[in-house]
Formats: sequence, C-alpha cells, structure tokens
Amino acid sequence: GAVDEGSWPVVVVGAGQAGLATAYHLRRAGLELGRDVVLLDADDRPGGSWRRMWPSLRLFSPPAFSSLPGRPMPPADDPYPGAAHVAAYLQDHEQRYGVVVRRGVRVTGVARDGDALAVTGLDAGAGVERRWRARHVVSATGTWTRPFVPAVPGRDVFAGRQLHSASYRGVEDVAGARVLVVGGGNSGAQLMAEVSAVARATWVTLRPPRFLPDDVDGRRLFEVATARRRALLAGEADPGGVGGLGDVVAVASVREARDAGRLRTAPMVAALTPTGAVWPDGTTDELDVVLWCTGFRPELRHLRPLRLPTVDGHPRTDGTTCVDEPRLHLVGYGDWTGPASATLVGVGPTAKETAARVVADLRRLDSPLT
Ligand code: FAD
Repeated sequence: GAVDEGSWPVVVVGAGQAGLATAYHLRRAGLELGRDVVLLDADDRPGGSWRRMWPSLRLFSPPAFSSLPGRPMPPADDPYPGAAHVAAYLQDHEQRYGVVVRRGVRVTGVARDGDALAVTGLDAGAGVERRWRARHVVSATGTWTRPFVPAVPGRDVFAGRQLHSASYRGVEDVAGARVLVVGGGNSGAQLMAEVSAVARATWVTLRPPRFLPDDVDGRRLFEVATARRRALLAGEADPGGVGGLGDVVAVASVREARDAGRLRTAPMVAALTPTGAVWPDGTTDELDVVLWCTGFRPELRHLRPLRLPTVDGHPRTDGTTCVDEPRLHLVGYGDWTGPASATLVGVGPTAKETAARVVADLRRLDSPLT
C-alpha cells in the first residue's frame, strides 16, 4: 500500500513556473509552505521544462516582461535570454520564497476521497508509492511531457528520423541533412532560422506564419492578452488583438534568417513516404529528417480518476477552478486557464486568483483538514 503522507490544505502538482507562482501567492495569502502547502514534482531539479529546452532557445520577451510575481527576472547580457537563464531564475525563485517541493515524485492519480482529494504519486528515489489527502489540489503540470505530432498521412512509414522540438538539442542533430521543419509558431521559426543555415531545410505550415512587427515582442502580446481579459471580464466585446502566442516574435536569429530569405514557407505536404514527402501537386522530395514543431497538449493524465467531462480536450474551467470538481484548480496551461497563462509573465495573475479562491474556501471551512 501507499505510504500515507497525511492531510494537507493544499497540494500542488508541478513545481515549474506555474507551481512556483501559485506557491508564492498561497504564501502571501497567509498559508505556510511546508506546513499547509506541499508541491510535488517528478523532476529531481528545479526549473520545470526550461531545463529541458534546446540551449539556443530565446525568450520572446525581455526579462522585465518574463517575470513571475515577486522577485523579477535579472537581466542577461542578451536582451532575450536563453532557457538556462530562465531555469536558474526559477531555481532562485524557489529558494528565495522557501517553496517546499517533494522532488522525484510523479503523481499518477488524483481521486475523490470523501471531503478531500487523494493524490497518489510514485517516489522514484525510494521506490514507493505515496499518498497525500488535500482539501485543494492545484494542477500545474504544463505541456512539455505531451508533445503533439499531427496525424499526417504516411507519418508511420517515413523511414528517416523524426524529431519533435521537445527532443531537439541543436543544429548538430541535423547538419547537412535534408530536413522538413513542420509548424509555423515561435519554435518553428526559431528552429528553421538555425537549421536552414546548416542543412537543406524546407519549412511547411498549415497557414502562413504571422510575423509580429520587429519592435513587437512578447511584452506587447501580454499587454494585448491583458486588455482582452479585462474586456471579456467586463462583458465587453472581444477587442481581438495582435494575435495569440502563436504569432512569431522576430528575435535576432529569426530577423537575420528572414532578412536573408531563409524563412520562406511552403504549404503543408500532402503525405510522407518511406523516403520523403509528397507535395499537394504530386511532386516528391527525398528527406532525411522531419522536425515536428507542432506544439504540445496539456499534461492531464494524472486527473483521469476524476473522470472530468472535457471541452476541446480539457476540463471545463471557471477561471482556474475546475467546474466539475471545484477543489481542483488548473494553472498555467494556456488560454483555457487564463489569457497568456502559459507564459512566465502571464501565469502570475491567474495564480493570484487561484490562491484567493483556495484561501477563501479554507477560511470558510475555518480549519485545516482534520
Ligand atoms: P513546466 O515548465 O513544464 O513545469 C511543469 C512541471 O510539472 C515540471 O517540473 C514537471 O516535472 C512537473 N510534472 C508534470 N507532470 C507531473 C506529474 N504527473 N507529477 C509530478 N510532476 C509533474 N513562455 C514565455 O513566457 N516566454 C517564452 O519565450 C516562451 N518560450 C517557449 C518556448 C517553448 C519551446 C515552449 C514549449 C514554451 C515556451 N513558453 C514561453 C511557454 C511557457 O513559459 C513554458 O512552456 C513553461 O515551461 C510553462 O511552465 P509550467 O510551469 O506551466 O510547465
């Protein structure tokens, strides 16, 4: 049986930026980290997915617009720092605010358990299963563990290498090869920019990528997302905006490649073949590598025991609260958990709302879980 880890007012699953922002606000709302709140994380080191992103990745906003609540992200010599700078910042944030994280614990299930939720996790280090009972569970598990590859015809017969951006480590993976880069978001643009300099690369997208003006970066995206959120909350018409986070920010490498004419795109291939691809007009090309920059889906497998109804592939939410299980909160997954909530600067406001709701409910109960 599972080792009983006791009853907690709050258990947070995931200690990446979303988990840390939530812990920060729970603490500010009066809960004691380590006594009232515990975070569980499968990784044995801080930094969330930023530690796993390819080294040349660049933030699409400057540090001042990539900060969690509390201590701001320090500047770096590059105006758009890389993933390692973010991972170090998150590690510092975790230590600075005394966030208690049980690391090496992969949560395998969240289930109803009377007046509480039961969180079961596998503690890899000790080789045991552990169980926490919680009045509130915050799921902050991100998307990195759920890379998405579209069902392109022939995907399973292509005999070359297939690589998702999540496992791309750098140009040495593809130098000199014939590469198909699939996907028109920031990852696709940044990877096409560097791969096209060392390989024969073709960039295909479902629709032409929308490049933001050179002076517009992630901070503008955040301002627009905030204005949209305010308008929607006020019941006004959706002002629309400069676009979603899928719009491409012209960081230096992207601007350089675009100006050198290396960022042209072609419409999506009709199918893959054992040795390459077939275009809509029937012509074919030989390929060595397909690099899928086709995004991610939310990591929600641990919520299966709750049998939550889903809409567009995710649980129904009111803000970050799960409509069908109000003791569950979902933070940091993207628009369905709050505009720009899947960004460093955007997750803070939604974490604050989550903490306020959780603490209000605990006060109503006026006692930690008996
Ligand atoms: P994560 O960082 O993935 O953290 C989730 C944590 O949960 C991880 O530590 C993981 O170990 C843990 N976990 C997951 N499942 C379990 C489980 N079952 N049990 C226990 N622990 C679990 N945002 C920006 O603001 N600026 C950018 O420039 C930017 N660029 C991006 C580039 C790429 C390629 C990607 C993919 C995203 C980018 N983002 C950017 C978006 C966002 O900031 C990141 O995706 C960020 O990692 C999301 O943080 P998170 O805490 O939600 O998830």
